[in-house]
Amino acid sequence: MAQTIGSRIVQETTLESGYLERLAARIETPGDGASIDVLTPVTDEIIGAIPACTADDVAVAVERARSAQIDWERTADDERAAVLERMGTLVLKHREELLDVVQLETGKSRLHAVEEILDVPLTCSYYAANGSSILADAHRSGAVPLVTDATVTYDPVGVVGVISPWNYPLTLAMTDVIPALFAGNAVVCKPDERTPFTALALAGLLAEAGLPDDLFQIVTGDGPTVGSALIDEVDYVAFTGGTETGRTVAERAGRNLIDCSLELGGKNPMLVLDDADPETAARGAVKGAFTNAGQLCLAPERIYVDERRYDEFVDAFVGATRRLEIGLEFDYGPEVGSLIDGDHLDSVREHVESAVTEGASLLSGGRARPDVGPFCYEPTILTDVDPDSRVACEETFGPVVSVHPVSGVDEAIELANDSEYGLNASVWTTDRERGRAVAREIDCGTVCVNDPYTVGWAATDAPMGGVGDSGLGRRHGPEGLRRYVDAQTIATSRIGPLSAPAGVSPRWFARFMFGLTRVQRRLTRWLP
Ligand code: NDP
Repeated sequence: MAQTIGSRIVQETTLESGYLERLAARIETPGDGASIDVLTPVTDEIIGAIPACTADDVAVAVERARSAQIDWERTADDERAAVLERMGTLVLKHREELLDVVQLETGKSRLHAVEEILDVPLTCSYYAANGSSILADAHRSGAVPLVTDATVTYDPVGVVGVISPWNYPLTLAMTDVIPALFAGNAVVCKPDERTPFTALALAGLLAEAGLPDDLFQIVTGDGPTVGSALIDEVDYVAFTGGTETGRTVAERAGRNLIDCSLELGGKNPMLVLDDADPETAARGAVKGAFTNAGQLCLAPERIYVDERRYDEFVDAFVGATRRLEIGLEFDYGPEVGSLIDGDHLDSVREHVESAVTEGASLLSGGRARPDVGPFCYEPTILTDVDPDSRVACEETFGPVVSVHPVSGVDEAIELANDSEYGLNASVWTTDRERGRAVAREIDCGTVCVNDPYTVGWAATDAPMGGVGDSGLGRRHGPEGLRRYVDAQTIATSRIGPLSAPAGVSPRWFARFMFGLTRVQRRLTRWLP
């Protein structure tokens, strides 16, 4: 039945008949026959089904990955890099089918699906080009200069578990998988049960790129069953998702004494300073707040505007927002797509309705649009929001943003930092130096100046991640690779053990060591 209903909507894409079924068949540990239907938010119809893997399936997948990892770790860096480069090329080559799968699963607009595709080849090339130098052996100061030395080497942790969310099913799976593979690990990925086909399509491309069998496995099913089992089996967990799930993941990883990175939610502030160009800032607010219908962890949800620019900014922002087209097409056209499902629509609607009940005013939007798609919601701008309301404090994760006039930069910074979250912020000013200085005052893992999020995210050489309730650890850059390795220190001595030589009294040796320590402290201060 799934195939019959789903095929109607699948036919609107460029995907060949049976494409999704073939993807589902890629799962190597398909469990005891139980399955989970996958629905498209475009029409709320079933488009396919995936196995509901069991904890035993996860254990088998990790065991296979562990066997395959032994040879992969010994493979030369340039061979691993070549696989990644081919993967980047294949993603670009197969972009149309990937765009279709992402749109089918998420209901996002095609242009926003494009952002997902672009990220993968860039990340592949970055780690292919820089991974070896990031993980090269490093010589460090020895305990006693000239007499001893120390070298740090890096070994892969083994098998990495990647648990990824539905909002960016392509980017947010691959951006963590690519460095893990480069570092010599195997990966077992658990995509969100609502968006498994994108990850399965990527598994096919990794195989085509020459990744050895079993090194990248997908396990499908619900988070509490499959995600938990994965954390119990792997050597590291890279998790992206909500803050409360992140706490559960961290607790479980902690019990297993394995490390983890947690990329969680945000309530991201945008600061429009008195010298900002209101039109430019409004363009940035539209892009930031409504990309992927606001289901973006980096999206601004609170905008603080200097009162001297407030009216101009609001006019420009509201005008541009009202011109946005909402729609569901497998083509470039509408700028705002769907929310992921009915539960999420209800949650977004509740945030807006309760804010309005508590005194907020709607400057734009504020309605569901079932006439466009079952889970579509208008891009919504609120003002006069009660600072204690849900929409002010909790992540909405939808096309909803509030604007607030502020007396100046100090108040903007104070309000921006008044949050448990600390993922991403943006500062808008015609003076980039001033923007950098304000950025230093904001408690967020990333702060973008004159862009809502793209310049930070797309800087693949720079780390990305949150503070506070927005998570732990960093992806991208050297930090995003080093999280997947264990550092080993190899220290040598030219003179045998650093202990009192035969015939030397302990008292004399102690005096010698105190003297040596004094000299060493001076050298440490003066020598680089
Ligand atoms: P969830 O935390 O519900 O789910 C994320 C992933 O975790 C899914 O694959 C889910 O599986 C799985 N999961 C659920 N429960 C468990 C568990 N007990 N143990 C292990 N894994 C589990 O988040 P959402 O899917 O709702 O994603 C939206 C949230 O993610 C937002 O809050 C958003 O801010 C955040 N996010 C953060 C990003 C970042 O980079 N910082 C990027 C994107 C999103 P399943 O759903 O199949 O049950």
